[in-house]
Amino acid sequence: MIFILPPLPYAMDALEPIMSEETLEYHYGKHLQTYVDNLNRLLEGTPHAEVSLEEIILSSTGPVFNNAAQVWNHTFFFNSLTPEQKPMPEVLEEALIKDFGSVKAFEEQFKKAAAGIFGSGWAWLAQDRNGKLHIIQESNAGNPMRAGFKPLLTIDVWEHAYYIDYRNRRAEFIDGCWKLFDWDKVAHRMGENTLTAVLGDLAEDRKTETKKAMDKYVCITCGWVYDPEEGDPEGGIAPGTAFEDIPEDWTCPACGVGKEFFEKV
Ligand code: MN
Repeated sequence: MIFILPPLPYAMDALEPIMSEETLEYHYGKHLQTYVDNLNRLLEGTPHAEVSLEEIILSSTGPVFNNAAQVWNHTFFFNSLTPEQKPMPEVLEEALIKDFGSVKAFEEQFKKAAAGIFGSGWAWLAQDRNGKLHIIQESNAGNPMRAGFKPLLTIDVWEHAYYIDYRNRRAEFIDGCWKLFDWDKVAHRMGENTLTAVLGDLAEDRKTETKKAMDKYVCITCGWVYDPEEGDPEGGIAPGTAFEDIPEDWTCPACGVGKEFFEKV
C-alpha cells in the first residue's frame, strides 16, 4: 500500500489569520509530506506494506510507528479544523458536561493538557470502551488508540505547528485552534460506535499474528530449523519475518529444497 498526502478539506489560506497559509505550507505541505514519504520508504517490501495505517500504529515500534502515527495524527488534526466553526452539537455538549462538569471545564482542562506537554506531542480528547471521555497527553507521535481509546479530537503541540505564527507562545496557538475546531466532526466521531470495537479486534488480530510469527519451521529433508526471530539474513529474510511471509521462491539454506518441504515445529 502506498500512502499519499491526504487532501486538506479547506484552502491553504482558509484558516487565516489564526493559522497562516505559510504555516500550512510547511506543516501540511512539508512536514506531513515528509512523514508520508518516510513511511512509504520504510514499509517497502515489508509485511506492513499491505495493512492499514491503524494496524501499523497498533503493531509497530520505532521509525515505522513514529512515521505512521505522525501521518495519522496530522491527518486527523487537519481534518478537525474548519474555517466556519459552528456551535457545538447538543450530543457533544451533553457528553462533555457529563464527564467534565461543563463545556468550560473541558475547555480549561484540554487547553491546560495541551499547554503542559513537555516537548513535542499531542493532546487528545478520546473515548474509552464504555463511552466515557478522557483528555490524554501523548509525547512525540503518541496516539491513544494504542491503549484502546477512540480518538475524537487532537491538537498538535510540536513547535513546528505554531512557531511561524506564534513563535514560542504555545498557549495563544491553542486558543486559536479552539476557534477552528470542527465540533460537528467531533460529535460525529463520538457517534461512530464501531471504531473502538474495530480497533480492539485489530489489536487481537495482531496478537494472533505475532504468535504465528513466532512459530519455528523445520526442513523435513535435512532438519534445518527456521527461527523467525533470526530470519535468514543470508537468504534475504530479515529477522522477525514470519515463515508464512517468506517469499515462495526461498529455499532451505542448508539443503536447497523449497518452502513446501518445511513443517511447523
Ligand atoms: Mn505537526
